[in-house]
Amino acid sequence: MILADVLHVVFGVGGSGWGSALRGYVVAAAGLVCLVNVGIRACVEREHRAIWTSAAIGVGCYALAFVLWGAWLEHLQHPPYPSISDYLWKAFYIFAGCAIIGAGGRSAQRGASTKIWLDTLIAVTGTAAIATAFIIPPIEHAARGAHAAVANDLQYPVADTVILVLSVAVVGMRGWRTDRKWVLLIASMALLLAGDFAWTIEIAHGARTADSADMLTYLLAFTFASAAVWQPERDPSAVDGQHWSTVIVPLAFTVISPTILVFDHFSRVSLAAFLLTMTSLVGAIMRMSLAMRDMLALGHIRRAALTDELTELPNRRMFLAKLRQEVAAVERNGGSLTTLMLDLDNFKQLNDTLGHDAGDELLRVIGPRLTGAVSAGSTVARLGGDEFAVLLEQNADGAAAEATAENVLDSFKKPFHVHGLVLRLTASVGIASFPQDADSPETLLKCADVAMYDAKRSRRGFEHYSPDRDDYTRERLELSGALADALDHGEIEAAFQPIADADTRRIFGAEALVRWRRPDGTVRMPSEFLEAAELAGLSRPLTRRVISLALAQAREWRAAGHQLYVCVNVTVADLLDESFPDEIWGALESHGLDADVLKIEVTESSIVANPERIGPVLRRLRTLGVEVALDDFGTGYSSLTHLRELPIDFVKIDRSFVTNMCNEATDAAIVYAIVELAHRLDLQVVAEGVEDERTWQELCRLGCERLQGYALARPLPGEEFWALLDAAPTGHLADSQSMPTPASTANGGSIE
Ligand code: C2E
Ligand code: CA
Ligand code: CA
Repeated sequence: MILADVLHVVFGVGGSGWGSALRGYVVAAAGLVCLVNVGIRACVEREHRAIWTSAAIGVGCYALAFVLWGAWLEHLQHPPYPSISDYLWKAFYIFAGCAIIGAGGRSAQRGASTKIWLDTLIAVTGTAAIATAFIIPPIEHAARGAHAAVANDLQYPVADTVILVLSVAVVGMRGWRTDRKWVLLIASMALLLAGDFAWTIEIAHGARTADSADMLTYLLAFTFASAAVWQPERDPSAVDGQHWSTVIVPLAFTVISPTILVFDHFSRVSLAAFLLTMTSLVGAIMRMSLAMRDMLALGHIRRAALTDELTELPNRRMFLAKLRQEVAAVERNGGSLTTLMLDLDNFKQLNDTLGHDAGDELLRVIGPRLTGAVSAGSTVARLGGDEFAVLLEQNADGAAAEATAENVLDSFKKPFHVHGLVLRLTASVGIASFPQDADSPETLLKCADVAMYDAKRSRRGFEHYSPDRDDYTRERLELSGALADALDHGEIEAAFQPIADADTRRIFGAEALVRWRRPDGTVRMPSEFLEAAELAGLSRPLTRRVISLALAQAREWRAAGHQLYVCVNVTVADLLDESFPDEIWGALESHGLDADVLKIEVTESSIVANPERIGPVLRRLRTLGVEVALDDFGTGYSSLTHLRELPIDFVKIDRSFVTNMCNEATDAAIVYAIVELAHRLDLQVVAEGVEDERTWQELCRLGCERLQGYALARPLPGEEFWALLDAAPTGHLADSQSMPTPASTANGGSIE
């Protein structure tokens, strides 16, 4: 039918006879086909039957109007105006309008955003503006002073415009997620408008009825409508929000409105058209500002996803992206890349003791320090926690990397001011290069990480990656994990090594020394796992455990009449924790013990870490009645100031001076000097590492008060310590039994 009509319209095939036949019946037939389609859909449809029924009635009216027109009215000498067909055509608009509004309501129920409302407004007012500016005026012009037929027919293009605008509104409410169904429907309505527009103009110019070209547009309109009926409807919410169709339609109308205004400049449009255009334009401007806001928000999100909130430095994601990009460039063009990984020493403890706010503030002030310490072409990022990374410019050599590491470490020498506190921090830096050390961006970071742990261990500030030490570090990291489990599963034990009076050999106390008994029965020594504990931030729980074991043991001794004290080694982490003294007090209370039962041993190096903070903690411990010993004395950065200023009760001379003092004159001189100095400062002296009788005698002669070492006993498990107590005089309640000889006490049951 379409082909026949096209041939007739375009090439005049069939002559006027054909034309009339086509006009009369072909369009009516197409209308009926459309009616059948919509009718079937209305019957099979369950969900939206009302909408489809309304559409079916509308199409039915339209088709019937054509049938009546073609079969009867057209052939009358003076067809009535309005005729029965006119009423039926008008009925079509009412039913079709209802169906479109129904469909629109369904889309709008899905929750339309401001953007969708605005887009719809722009499109509706834009379409209406086009119609009022370009379609109505020629009809009005043609209808001027015309007869009833023109006045009547004028209503059709207006009604067409209304349902076209309604359809556009529905598509707008669907967020412009157009599907084939709506494209076909809108095309069909536009064709209807075109047909009615042409017909009305022709009637105004005296034609009696529509010509074949108009009829072709109706035929196509029906065909499109029939095709639309069976198109699957896409769920608008299921369509990707970034689809081009969501942007292109509002954009098109944003262009159309100014075009109408330009047109207005040359040929005045009606006031209605002008107002509609302005509304569409204002809507478009608001829509643009919303789009702009969205874009800014998107930019913000993107930035937030790539920068670290605290320091505003690039984050791990961005650093990795940059690293990948640079690695790819180096793979393409040759050259090398060097990364520095930096980790703050003891940050975890600082964070735990000062609180997270202060920790965050500290990290914040570290950002600018780091950026200031590296060259302009380098990238500084915070990878997380207290871990930072620097990516040097391509082809920076080892010397440049070291220079950067030194700069960074130097920048840390100035104290940090955080929440009114003056904090001194140190950091460790690991250096690794691509392709020398690693073959991918990820392994490059890993190598720098391994090197950083090496630097922590060596305390040299920075280290280059070395594959030989890699396994060692990995093992260490695994160890940290296992240690955490060990703490939970009671694998941590304490051995006790007696401390005796130098002259009377009476046992006054014992030092608790940590041991890790693996499930397979093997015992790990502190040298094997203390460092891993520190790296993993497990120092605090470890000390807590040893204190608890030590106090439990001391209570048993006291209950049995042995007034012994117990010494526990503590770490920087413990001393930086202001709640440490309270924790100790709580532990003493829960064991029902006085404070004099416990002494803590601190090393000089741990005090040096932060004397301003550690001093008050030590003083508080002392106020509670817990004495403090300065352990390994002579090995640290022995500063006399510390000895004078810090609340210390006794010093323990490091065993490296003691063990060989009888053979090494220098060692003997050092031991002598330490004893002298300590006594002048009113401190007692304990010598550790006393391995033989000769050394014991010599220390007695020098005036050393207490001794500890294999000469007396090795560290012993709690139960074996009893044998020693039974054999030797102890504490204040010591009896007159003589001290056992070293040979009889150095035993095989020790756990060292
Ligand atoms: P330290 O505090 O200097 O402890 C004394 C160490 O010297 C012990 O080693 C002990 O077995 C050893 N020793 C004792 N007498 C002699 C001797 O006559 N000759 C020789 N050559 N060595 C002797 P251990 O138990 O392996 O402990 C090593 C270090 O581990 C300790 O040195 C201490 O710094 C640390 N440590 C031990 N237990 C703990 C603990 O519970 N917490 C903390 N934070 N550190 C601990
Ligand atoms: Ca010790
Ligand atoms: Ca020691």
